[in-house]
This record gives sequence, structure tokens and C-alpha cells, in this order.
Amino acid sequence: MRYILLLGGNLGNVEKTMRDAIKRIALLGDVPLVSSVYESEPWGFEAENLFKNMAVELDTDLEPLSLLDELQRIEREMGRRHKTVNRQYQSRTIDIDILLCDCRVVDVERLAIPHKLMHLRRFALEPVAEYWADWQHPLLNKTIAELLEQLQ
Ligand code: ADP
Ligand code: MG
Repeated sequence: MRYILLLGGNLGNVEKTMRDAIKRIALLGDVPLVSSVYESEPWGFEAENLFKNMAVELDTDLEPLSLLDELQRIEREMGRRHKTVNRQYQSRTIDIDILLCDCRVVDVERLAIPHKLMHLRRFALEPVAEYWADWQHPLLNKTIAELLEQLQ
């Protein structure tokens, strides 16, 4: 199965943290392509630092929920703290989200693929558009390039 993951963070040496995370992700399968690093203003809350994001392709035999377990383990190992304090967003060292999968649509409590908000977030669409612009969003029936264009 091919997955597109989005890595992000805004605390510490984010690029180094993301490179370390990619090394761990590569142990789960093959990582044939990694996007450039994109910078954006924090979303939904005030923070000192810019957010950085990268998109990564992972080809693996892991099923979606098993992959989520592995990615959450990697987040924990890398010092990620809880997302919310009083339901507010918080700065974080690393966030790894599953954006897309070529296998099927998933919509259970722990996991939605495609990611529910990806089509509204420039910081998700831009890195994905670098190599996977033609990837079709299976629910919106638009490509990543088209979704990004819709945002501008
Ligand atoms: P966020 O990514 O929204 O900033 P978290 O990383 O803390 O926040 O994720 C909150 C929850 O979102 C996770 O516990 C996970 O179960 C759930 N989730 C739902 N869909 C996805 C997805 N596509 N990728 C990663 N996590 C997801
Ligand atoms: Mg997340």
C-alpha cells in the first residue's frame, strides 16, 4: 500500500527531528520520495515559531490502523507531548499524520483517511503537490493540484 504522510512541528530543530522521524518511518517499509521542507504560520493558535512540514511517501504492507500505531509510537519516542491543553492547540516537536492511502477510505474513531482537514490546509496540500499533485482525493474526486488551486 502507498501512503502519503505529513510530518510537521514547530519546536526545536524541526528539520532534524523530521529527518530522524523519516529514518524511523523507513523501517516500516520503503520511502521512495520525500518533499522539500515547507514553512507556514501556525494554524489555529498563536505560537512563536513557524511551522515546518514535509510530505513523505511510505510503501508498506501495514494496514492503516497498524500504521497509525507505529507512527504514534514514533511520535512518543521522539518526545511528542499531548496535543491539547484545555482543547487548545499546542506547540509540538513532531506530528505525523496519514493524509492519503491508495488502499481504501477509512473512517473510524481513531483514524480517517483521507485526513479530514487536508483539503482545507495549504500546509498539507503544498508539500503533497510537489510530487503527488495528480493523486486523486477519493471522496472529493479532485486531484491534489485541483484542491490546492481551489484554496488560492
Ligand atoms: P493533530 O494531528 O490533529 O494536530 P494529533 O496528532 O494529536 O492532532 O491527533 C489526534 C488524533 O487524531 C489521534 O489520536 C488519531 O487517532 C486521530 N486521527 C484521525 N485521523 C488521523 C490521521 N489521518 N492521521 C493521524 N491521526 C489521525
Ligand atoms: Mg497528528
